[in-house]
Amino acid sequence: MYRDPICGRLVDERRAVKLVYEGKVVYFCSQECAEQFSQDPEGFLEEEGED
Ligand SMILES: [Zn+2]
Repeated sequence: MYRDPICGRLVDERRAVKLVYEGKVVYFCSQECAEQFSQDPEGFLEEEGED
């Protein structure tokens, strides 16, 4: 399972929408979330940071 950085939901790899950003695969629950991410990828990845 992977966490969608946009909405915070856990997504199954087989169902996820995948996007490669700077060599890293990012998983999303939907195309909508992937599109939001692609508009501001750095902002979302910073939030993902330390937990
Ligand atoms: Zn999502």
